[in-house]
Amino acid sequence: MNHLLGSRTRRNPLSRYCLPLAAGWMVLQSFFPASPTLAQDKSNKFSYSDFLEKIEQGKIKEVSLDSRTDTATVTVVNESGETVTREVNLFNDQSELISRLRENNIDLTVKTSNDNAQTIGIIANGALILLLVAGLAIIIRRSAKASGQAMSFGKSRARYQVEDQTGVKFDDVAGIDEAKEELQEVVTFLKETERFTAVGAKIPKGLLLVGSPGTGKTLLAKAVSGEAGVPFYSISGSEFVEMFVGVGASRVRDLFKKAKENAPCLIFIDEIDAVGRKRGAGLGGGNDEREQTLNQLLTEMDGFEENTGVIVIAATNRADVLDEALMRPGRFDRQVTVDLPSYNGRLGILQVHAQNKKLAEEVSLETLARRTPGLSGADLANILNEAAILTARRFKPVITPLEIDNALDRITIGLSLSPLLDSKKKRLIAYHEVGHALLMTLLEHSDPLNKVTIIPRSGGVGGFAQQSFDEDMVDSGLYSRAWLIDRITITLGGRAAEQEIFGDAEVTAGASNDLRVVANLAREMVTRYGMSDLGPLALESHHGQVFLGGGDMNNHNQYSEEVATKIDEQMRAIALRCYEKARQLIRENRDLMDHLVDRILYEETIEGEEFRRIVAQYRQLPEKQLVSSGNK
Ligand code: ADP
Ligand code: ZN
Repeated sequence: MNHLLGSRTRRNPLSRYCLPLAAGWMVLQSFFPASPTLAQDKSNKFSYSDFLEKIEQGKIKEVSLDSRTDTATVTVVNESGETVTREVNLFNDQSELISRLRENNIDLTVKTSNDNAQTIGIIANGALILLLVAGLAIIIRRSAKASGQAMSFGKSRARYQVEDQTGVKFDDVAGIDEAKEELQEVVTFLKETERFTAVGAKIPKGLLLVGSPGTGKTLLAKAVSGEAGVPFYSISGSEFVEMFVGVGASRVRDLFKKAKENAPCLIFIDEIDAVGRKRGAGLGGGNDEREQTLNQLLTEMDGFEENTGVIVIAATNRADVLDEALMRPGRFDRQVTVDLPSYNGRLGILQVHAQNKKLAEEVSLETLARRTPGLSGADLANILNEAAILTARRFKPVITPLEIDNALDRITIGLSLSPLLDSKKKRLIAYHEVGHALLMTLLEHSDPLNKVTIIPRSGGVGGFAQQSFDEDMVDSGLYSRAWLIDRITITLGGRAAEQEIFGDAEVTAGASNDLRVVANLAREMVTRYGMSDLGPLALESHHGQVFLGGGDMNNHNQYSEEVATKIDEQMRAIALRCYEKARQLIRENRDLMDHLVDRILYEETIEGEEFRRIVAQYRQLPEKQLVSSGNK
C-alpha cells in the first residue's frame, strides 16, 4: 500500500500547480481582448486599397504606423477639404507601404502602441509569463526532490525504526510463558556472546515467532532487546515490498549494514510472510520485487558470520506459507510458537495491563479472564483501555465492573447502538435472542447464559445471547458429544423461535450466521470427532486452513464422492434432529417465551442470573445451571 501512496504524492505537484495556471491563463485572456481595433467605430475606417488610392491622390498628410497592432492612423483631406483622421488595417509587410509614403513625401511616424488596453495586455502577458516561470520552477524543484527520493529510496528513506532502548522487560509480557522461556535464552546470547563462543558454540542467527495477530510477538522481541540492553531495529515485511524493483533488496542490505555496525543488536522483521512466501508459487504469481527482496534477505542471513552479536527475529501468523529456504540451518532455524493465552495467561496479561489503571474493588480480573477465551493479549489490553476511556467519559474516579462489561462487549461484539423503536422487527429479534437464551438455560449440557440483549451493535448485529464458557473444556478442546449437540440446538434456537412464533413465511436471514456455525459444528462432529453413524473415523486431518476457507479443496481429495454424500447426510441428520428439539422446547415453553420477550422488550437486556431466576419460576432448571448460577 505504501508504494501507491508514495507515487501519488510524487505525481501530485504537477496536477496541483498546472491546473490553477491553466485557469489563470484563461481568466487573463478573457479580461483583455487581444485586438482593440475591433472596438473602433466603423465609419472611422479606411480600407487598405482606399488608403493606397489616397496616397496616389496626394490626399494623405500624415501617417502614424503602429507596428504592434498593424494599424495606421492617417490624417487625410476628405472630399469637402476637411482634415480628418482615419484608421487603416495594414498587412504584415509594411516595407512597400513605407517606401510609397517616402516617395510621396508623407510624414511618417512609427510607434509601438500606447493604447491603454494594449499596455495592460502586455503587462498581463508579462505577469502570466512570470507566473508560468515561477510555477515551472516550483514543479521542477518538487520533481527534482521527488526523483532524488526515488534514486536514494533504499538509503535515505529506509523505513526501519531504531530504538536504542525499548524499555520493555520480560515482566511486561505475561501469559506466554513457553515462548518467553525460549527467548530468555536469546537474551543470554546477546549479552554474553563470548561465553558461548569461548566453548565453540554457534549462536543461532535467526528465530521465527509464529502466532496469531496480537499475541505479543512484537512485545516479546522488544523485551529481548530491552533485557539485553541492545538496540532494536524493526521493519515490517510489507515495507520491503516497494514499487520499484530493487528497492526492497536495497533496504534489506541497508538494514543489515546498519545493524552490523551497531552490534550487538536485534533485528525484528514483522509480517515476514509479505516477502517470505514460497517463491514462484501461489498468490500474485511471480513477483520480481518480492523475490529479489527475499533473495537479498537470504544472502544477508548467510553473509553475516555467526556470533557477530546480531540476531534476527521474524514474526508471522502463517509459517506454512513461508519459503522453505528461510528455515534452512543458519537462517530462521528456530521456531517459537506464540499461542493465544489460556485462562492463567489471560489473567496474567490483565494484571500487567491493570497495573497503571484505577480499578474499583469489585472488579474481578479473574471473572474477566474467565469470560474471554479466544481473545489475544492485544484484545485484553484493549478491553482494559477501553474501560478506562469509558470511565473517564462518565466522570467516574475508578473503573467499575459496568465499564469492564461495556468494554468487553464493544471489543467482542461491536459498538452498541441506540435501541430499535418498538416494531415487528424488534419483536422478531427479541424472540430470536430469547430463543437462544432459553435453550442455553434449559439444556442440560449447556454453559450458563451470561446475558441476552436486543440492543443493536455496529456491524449489523441486532442483539445477542452470550454464554460464559467452561474454560477448561474450551482450552483443552475436549468437547463431549452431548455438549456439541446442545451447542447446535442452542444455535438453532433463534431460527426455531422465529418459525414457531411467526411461521414459515416470516423467518429472516438474521439466522444465516447461526446456520453457518451449525454446519461447521456438524461437519466437525462427523468428519473429525467420529461422532456419527459413519463411525469413529477421522476423515479430515486438522489444519487451521479449514477456517480460512482454503482447506476445503484439499480435503475433498481425502475421501470419495460416495463418502462425501454420506457426510452430508449425517450432517443434515444431526442438524434436523437438533432443530426439531429446539422447536419442541420452544413450543412447550411458549408462555415462558412470551413472558421473557415482554421483559426484554421493556428492559432491553437481561442478565444471566435474572434470566435463570425467571425461568426457574416456570421450570425445573438442570443441575448444571443451578450450580453455575451460584458462582457466577
Ligand atoms: P503481535 O506482534 O503478536 O501482533 P503485539 O506484540 O503487537 O502483537 O501486541 C500488541 C499489544 O498487545 C502489546 O503492545 C501489548 O500491549 C498487548 N499484549 C499482547 N500480548 C501480550 C502479553 N502476552 N502480555 C502483555 N501484553 C500483551
Ligand atoms: Zn441467532
